[in-house]
Amino acid sequence: MTAPEKTTRDPHLWVPQRKVTDLEGFREKYAAERDKRLPNTGADTYKAIDFEGDFASFDADPHSPGPRTTPAQAADLDMLVIGAGFMGISAGIELKKIGVSNFKILDVAADFGGTWYWNRYPGVRCDVESYVYLPYLEESGYIPTERYTRGSEIFAYCQSLADQFGLYDHALFQTRVTDMEWDEDSARWIVRTDGGDEFRARFVSTQSGLFSRPQLPGIPGVEKFAGHSFHTSRWDYDYTGGDSTGNLEKLRDKRVAIIGTGATGVQAIPQLAEYAKSLVVFQRTPTQIAPRENAETDIEWFKSLPQGWQTTRRISFDKCAMDRATAECDVDDGWIKFAKFQMQAIYEAGGMEPTVEQYMEAMERSDYEWNEMLRDRVDSIVSDPEKAEKLKTYYRTMCKRPGFSDDFLPAFNKESVDIVDTATTPIDRITETGIVVGDREYEVDLIVYATGFQQGRTWTDKAGYDVTGRNGNRLSKKFAEGASTLHGFLSQDFPNLFFLGFLQSTQVSNIANLIDNQARHMIYMVGKCLRDGVRAIEPTAEAESGWNQTIAEHAEMRRDWNTTCTPGQYNNEGRVDDKRSTLVGGLYGPGYEYFDLLRQWREDDRFEGIAVTR
Ligand code: NAP
Repeated sequence: MTAPEKTTRDPHLWVPQRKVTDLEGFREKYAAERDKRLPNTGADTYKAIDFEGDFASFDADPHSPGPRTTPAQAADLDMLVIGAGFMGISAGIELKKIGVSNFKILDVAADFGGTWYWNRYPGVRCDVESYVYLPYLEESGYIPTERYTRGSEIFAYCQSLADQFGLYDHALFQTRVTDMEWDEDSARWIVRTDGGDEFRARFVSTQSGLFSRPQLPGIPGVEKFAGHSFHTSRWDYDYTGGDSTGNLEKLRDKRVAIIGTGATGVQAIPQLAEYAKSLVVFQRTPTQIAPRENAETDIEWFKSLPQGWQTTRRISFDKCAMDRATAECDVDDGWIKFAKFQMQAIYEAGGMEPTVEQYMEAMERSDYEWNEMLRDRVDSIVSDPEKAEKLKTYYRTMCKRPGFSDDFLPAFNKESVDIVDTATTPIDRITETGIVVGDREYEVDLIVYATGFQQGRTWTDKAGYDVTGRNGNRLSKKFAEGASTLHGFLSQDFPNLFFLGFLQSTQVSNIANLIDNQARHMIYMVGKCLRDGVRAIEPTAEAESGWNQTIAEHAEMRRDWNTTCTPGQYNNEGRVDDKRSTLVGGLYGPGYEYFDLLRQWREDDRFEGIAVTR
């Protein structure tokens, strides 16, 4: 290890003041907070919003221009890319770079953008620095206007990338895959859609859609509510007025409830608080809130960055944010300030070469100290002590995604804003008129579900279609108890079918960087196959089981951490042995190690572990 730099900016906000000595006391307090949540948890306590069925109306696209008008298509393609978010955009750009033009990009949405197409709720912004988040900044020449850009700017950037790289000609929107089967004779995937299309494709790219399928809480009565309700990823501005920058004027006479205080709730709540006649926030677990420190981009600085800066900056951010691997850090935001504080603690405990015990104790102690600082910060901002207490977090920092906001905590100082803690007394039911907790009913006109996205279901459940591979093998069966792949990309008996996203891949906080790396890796394989006239690729049984073993070992290393964390999406809502959630049992170590492993594999250029049929 190298000696860490000290955090210098605004010491009052950022340097924890209290030295924690009573580690055992904190452990007990945190365990008690986790235990409150354990009886009523697990991914199955959520209600999936499926494409068809009782709750399908929650899935309707409020942004679509009307039903699809494109006639049914049939084509023989080199590649079919399912999903037009960052993954589809990166895949399209990389395909063009290697001279492949016979491809299509499909999406249920009516435009490029993926997450940023759907999530247009008020206040939506990127919570990772835009300079490391937005892909292809050097190639596109685009300069983000702010350090943490608005969702509308990111969505527009997705559209401009698609335009600049000529991807619109390849796109087919408002189209959902209904089934996919492998034809051994022609070595093609036959892919059918709800628009009556039938494509034959040599290669198909899919993604596990971490944030693509919204979910509702598994509370009885959701369908009974007679007022208005929607999920944050399908925001109804016809009802609220305004747009993602605010101005929700139509809420001035409305009583509003929001369920969920994750990263989305944290961004939407200040906007609802500002415009609603009254707002009740139903919170099960608070999110840790650190300052935002947003700023306009310094254009001169941006233009002065040397060639290749974005890759370097992304690696640096990944190394610092996800591990305590280095003291050098190009980015200086909330993720990194916490990392530096921990590095300092490790250094103080054991110098340049701490023992494992010194390292672990310093990590734990500094985490408590950091949270003490943030709990003090809640007290200094929220004037009502009862509300303040509910907003304090008692779990280790990375158990849940940390939040960064300057307007979330102050929103609770408004008299019109109430907070109901549902950790011990869960929401009992939803009635025609409101939400019942214990013996009290909160009557409201609007319920906003900020309850996140399906994680704990199988790949095929989330995708909404099954895949039939070689010899009639079904992906729903193969992945029923968790995925099985080589490096997260390919699975035996499903040749030429790529999986991208959080499926036996890696842990990152900058998801756009993961997608970018995966798309480039996939297109390397596709390019080589097309050049060499390869008919099919799939992992050997040995290589696939080797990767499964590696993934299982990593899951085992994280078991203690996952078990002690309060339930949430990162530990499959507390069910650490349910392998359907790829976030728990299905990830390799830190991103930069995984990306290095992929890079070396490409440099070897031997397709090691892959059975190649010519
Ligand atoms: P989320 O993190 O899954 O949060 C869902 C929220 O709903 C949690 O607070 C959860 O409470 C609550 N909840 C669920 N069921 C409930 C019930 N029955 N009663 C009360 N509360 C209930 O979803 P999200 O906030 O939409 O965020 C999803 C992911 O999107 C994030 O992890 C983040 O990676 C990403 N995101 C990124 C940005 C960005 O700026 N880049 C912005 C927004 C979101 P518990 O915590 O107790 O489970």
